[in-house]
Amino acid sequence: MTTQLQQENTEISLALEEGDPLLWTNPMRVSNGMPGATWGDRKIDLEDVKSAASRFKRFAPVLSQLFPELIESKGTIESPLLVVPVLEHALDLAPGDGRLYVKADHGLPIAGSIKARGGIHEVLEFAETLAIANGICSSDDLSAIASQKARELFSDYQVAVGSTGNLGLSIGVIASALGFKTTVHMSSDAKAWKKDRLRNRGVTVVEHEGDYAAAVAAGRAESEADPRSHFVDDEGSLSLFLGYAAAALHLRDQLDEEGVVVDAEHPLFVYIPCGVGGAPGGIAFGLAHLFGANVHCFFAEPTASPCFLLSLLDKSGSNPSVYDVGLTNKTEADGLAVPRASERAVSVMRPAIAGAFTVPDDHLFAHVHTAMVCESIRIEPSAAAAFDGPHWLTASVAGRRYLAEKGLDTRMASATHVIWTTGGLFVPEAEYQGFYRRGVGLAVSRWDAIGE
Ligand SMILES: *Cc1c(COP(=O)(O)O)cnc(C)c1O
Repeated sequence: MTTQLQQENTEISLALEEGDPLLWTNPMRVSNGMPGATWGDRKIDLEDVKSAASRFKRFAPVLSQLFPELIESKGTIESPLLVVPVLEHALDLAPGDGRLYVKADHGLPIAGSIKARGGIHEVLEFAETLAIANGICSSDDLSAIASQKARELFSDYQVAVGSTGNLGLSIGVIASALGFKTTVHMSSDAKAWKKDRLRNRGVTVVEHEGDYAAAVAAGRAESEADPRSHFVDDEGSLSLFLGYAAAALHLRDQLDEEGVVVDAEHPLFVYIPCGVGGAPGGIAFGLAHLFGANVHCFFAEPTASPCFLLSLLDKSGSNPSVYDVGLTNKTEADGLAVPRASERAVSVMRPAIAGAFTVPDDHLFAHVHTAMVCESIRIEPSAAAAFDGPHWLTASVAGRRYLAEKGLDTRMASATHVIWTTGGLFVPEAEYQGFYRRGVGLAVSRWDAIGE
């Protein structure tokens, strides 16, 4: 199908529509690297990010009470920043190209993916607001929020969400643990084990014919008809976005602890898998407020579902779907199989994002395999989407042009690269073995398909 898309760069647009892997760098990026300052009508800034981080902190004692797996971390839902010298070598990053780290959200507790950040934050905010309004607790003391009285209140309310899987897992687990009635609307292609895991926790799973966007629309419509239902809107929720953004503060502390400096002489490059754009957008928003022009965030999308890049390229303001340009949205990266981006995340990131690249499924499997062989990192295909990033940046024509334009080509020896791994903890072993085996052999030729 052809479209009326008014795209700025024909070469990039053609590659995108052909489903060829590509790196796009952002000509709209402003010199101070700052993102948009509004979410719809609402002004947003670093204070909002800090307030999401402080909500997680306030809830930590409650979370460690609800989830035994959080006792050790005292209720903190966070992931380590891993030093990965073997992977650095395997991804062809030469010493002169900088150092590589992995931000290991693939192991985030409770949800097993990056969705633990946004999804849990939104449910906590909803629970906190309800409990305070009903006199069960105050914002200084949330201890009663896991009490019988609170559960009784919450059992009168429903939390609903539409999801390809991971957001549903996150929302379903936290909402049901607090005592909410919980409904997850899933697309027909969502993985069976994710549906099973939710049903085992008493969550109602509704399956919808059609894709992720259809599941979201159905969930939204059903929830809107019920005043006691809170719909977690993956495409438009500020609470989700800020929950993700809080990760930036933690990453800054982790870089500090590692002795990593980020300034004009020491650029930071961050590569994050992208679906609707809420998770990578939130993180990039937070990082831009902390590091300004010295952080460069690149989003990674499947070649079959590059909805965020498509929306950035589109100047008509219609927020197109990947189907409009003849793409299939068929990818094994189920966490990223999204036909249409979050319009709000796109508009916040338009002036700040450094670039975006697309990844064929073969690369995802190759990287699932490489991550295990090199560093014993066990990830799902979606979580492997960012691994092509450092190579695109340092070895492709488009990447080198970006570095030269920003005056960074001579600073790369002191650069830091962070690959965000976004999911995998709860993938059943048999399923994981299938992904891993598909990556054997592909790993050797992984760069052949990367054009210039
Ligand atoms: C959802 C998800 C992402 C991307 O998040 P969006 O907010 O949809 O952009 C990345 N990786 C995994 C594993 C996910 O589940």
